[in-house]
Amino acid sequence: MHIAIMGSGQLAQMMAKAGQTLNITCSFLADNEEGANPVQGLGDIVYYDKDVSAKALYQLLGTPELITVEKEDVNLELLNELQQFCRVAPSPGAIAITQNRYREKSFLNEMGLPTVQYYYASSAEQIKSAAKNIGFPLIIKAQEQGYDGKNQWRCRSEQQLEALLKAQSLGDVVLEQWVDFTHEVSIIAARSVSGEKVFYALTENDHKDGILVTSKAPATGDLRALETTAQSYINKILERLDYVGILSMECFVVDGEIIINELAPRVHNSGHWTQLGSTTCQFENHLRAISAMPLGETKITGRTAMLNILGKEVNFQPLLTQNAEVYSYQKSCRPGRKMGHINFQAHSKSALEQSLTTLKTHIYS
Ligand code: ATP
Ligand code: MG
Repeated sequence: MHIAIMGSGQLAQMMAKAGQTLNITCSFLADNEEGANPVQGLGDIVYYDKDVSAKALYQLLGTPELITVEKEDVNLELLNELQQFCRVAPSPGAIAITQNRYREKSFLNEMGLPTVQYYYASSAEQIKSAAKNIGFPLIIKAQEQGYDGKNQWRCRSEQQLEALLKAQSLGDVVLEQWVDFTHEVSIIAARSVSGEKVFYALTENDHKDGILVTSKAPATGDLRALETTAQSYINKILERLDYVGILSMECFVVDGEIIINELAPRVHNSGHWTQLGSTTCQFENHLRAISAMPLGETKITGRTAMLNILGKEVNFQPLLTQNAEVYSYQKSCRPGRKMGHINFQAHSKSALEQSLTTLKTHIYS
């Protein structure tokens, strides 16, 4: 089977590699040459050109039987047009909801699922009036095209907001109440063409400056009690969207309850641990789900953690301790950029924390 992936970053890279054992070949639609480094050697790469028709792109991509995405910021018009030639999964309708923060939050609330308090705003006046309702501190996020904390502005006071509004025009945004969460968790699930579903263990995540740094699975302590709720929320979303593929749900834990932060209609950084810690990784299950194969088991094989390698060229060899594996994305280095990650396991929570500290010291000091 041949699948075309919209995008050419590390998620496309890891999907294509997972496809190799399923006899799936991939091609990629890339924005530019530099952005295609992670998928070099993994299949044909087509560079997007707005003057090339959807039909011609489909042919350049090798007339795939199926098209999928590795990012939510995709050209929806193109994706809709491509549907004339082959199946697209997840559906453009599901991507349309999740690629816009306001639409996504409204969709969740309409289903009775909890989010932070939020307001839509498209002018400085609307922002100021929403800020009055929400109170400070608050966070302003561009409605679309935000990832790794980009296009987000945190405001602690009215003065800070005034200064921000003077300095730049923010476009269409969502204002969110600043949440004092105790933890961040995520859950990843797959739903196949036939409606079969699997769920991965609830995962505990740590972010710094809006970027994911570590994930640990399974979530421990009091968080374990939240897994059933998280599963029921994502299950509801999968069904409502008639979703096909991997869906990821990021959440805050506030006063022992789950609040949904955002959805991603794709494989997710907080699921990279499944490459080592689950009988079937998220990349394989995404391909299985969209290509109508039976889904793989998601049994956890041990206490697992993932550490992102951010903005560093790292000498990987010393990191290859027992039960550790390193993934390098083949990208050129920029500050804060996701360059690779390490998955590792330990028998106890304290041993896992200890390995995490050792690895962090090796990479970041
Ligand atoms: P991603 O890389 O996950 O796509 P993103 O740029 O879409 O990130 P968010 O997930 O909305 O952005 O926010 C990134 C991080 O910033 C969150 O994981 C959390 O740590 C922090 N954050 C975001 N919104 C809030 C909020 N309302 N209150 C407190 N912290 C927040
Ligand atoms: Mg996020």
